[in-house]
Amino acid sequence: MKTKLNIGVIGVGHLGSLHSKMYNEIDSANFVGLFDVNEEKRKEISSKYKTRSFSSVEELLSAVDAVSIATVTTTHHEVAMKAITAGKHVLIEKPITSTMTEADELIQSAKQKGVLIQVGHIERFNPAIVSLESYQLKPMFIESHRLAQFNPRGTDVAVVLDLMIHDIDIILSLVNSPVKQIDANGVAVVSETPDIANARLQFENGCVANVTASRISQKKMRKMRMFQHNAYIAIDFQQGSADVFRLGKEGEGSIWSTMLLGQIGEGKKKRSIIYEQPEIKKINALKYELESFISAVQNGTRPIVNGEDGRHALEVAQEIMNKIQVQRFDV
Ligand code: NAD
Repeated sequence: MKTKLNIGVIGVGHLGSLHSKMYNEIDSANFVGLFDVNEEKRKEISSKYKTRSFSSVEELLSAVDAVSIATVTTTHHEVAMKAITAGKHVLIEKPITSTMTEADELIQSAKQKGVLIQVGHIERFNPAIVSLESYQLKPMFIESHRLAQFNPRGTDVAVVLDLMIHDIDIILSLVNSPVKQIDANGVAVVSETPDIANARLQFENGCVANVTASRISQKKMRKMRMFQHNAYIAIDFQQGSADVFRLGKEGEGSIWSTMLLGQIGEGKKKRSIIYEQPEIKKINALKYELESFISAVQNGTRPIVNGEDGRHALEVAQEIMNKIQVQRFDV
């Protein structure tokens, strides 16, 4: 049996307290302790999850091999640099950093120190996405909606960096082609930064993704629809479910199959339209994400979402924000 990884959490607000809860439950983790600049908060969460409350980042870093960093985004770079310089592996909550320069510096330093960076793009671990692993996804048109009710937490950054970046990362992981062009628009309705945004990403292979994110909606929605040759796939991130409608191979799908929606073509060319619901594993996405990080550290393998992936999502998100900025000056 592998020895447990000594791990800590830095920043135990909303998300950091969930990381703490999970590390307490994960068999491969030895949850050594946590640190937060807010003394009250770190005492509360350490007593809740029966772990040590450290009084400085340095003290915590000297006791662990890896940390989750769930501080506010503007501090990711400063905190992660301390951890990397001390030779510790880091799981940084999304977005990786506030600026590209900061992301580049972290990636470069981690390479020099021989430590891993994983970025908390949790939707890669959503049961719906995991259930599609055996499908050959090659989308040519993507439509996504991530809508949330208003919550002042997170409004320090535009909705693009707060919510849309989840879909940007998923889309970049599915479309194996460079982004050719970005058009975007957005409006700061109630806060100082855009609360609703829409972006159209065109890829060199011809794929187009139309991405909408809002944090001023009445109802919550996290859906993505993908169209590709011979298949249409609908993902519901909130429900953790996926529906696949695909054209069967020649002879596949009998007229008696309950999953058969119809047939097209004549004679030998007749093809069935098949509906499938991929098997959904009962997994907690955050727990799976953290277990995956520990496994990458223990086995020296590439994290599912590494520093470069986090950087790429940030790059596209920033380009979208630049386009929105231009629009605002035009008004
Ligand atoms: P939060 O405000 O609830 O918590 C942040 C905590 O960090 C606070 O307790 C604060 O005292 C502490 N902190 C700030 N600076 C610190 C420092 N230098 N050292 C130690 N502690 C420090 O915020 P949150 O909603 O938990 O968000 C934290 C991060 O997680 C953000 O980067 C956010 O984008 C990300 N996030 C990710 C998801 C996701 O789905 N993956 C969801 C929500 C938030």
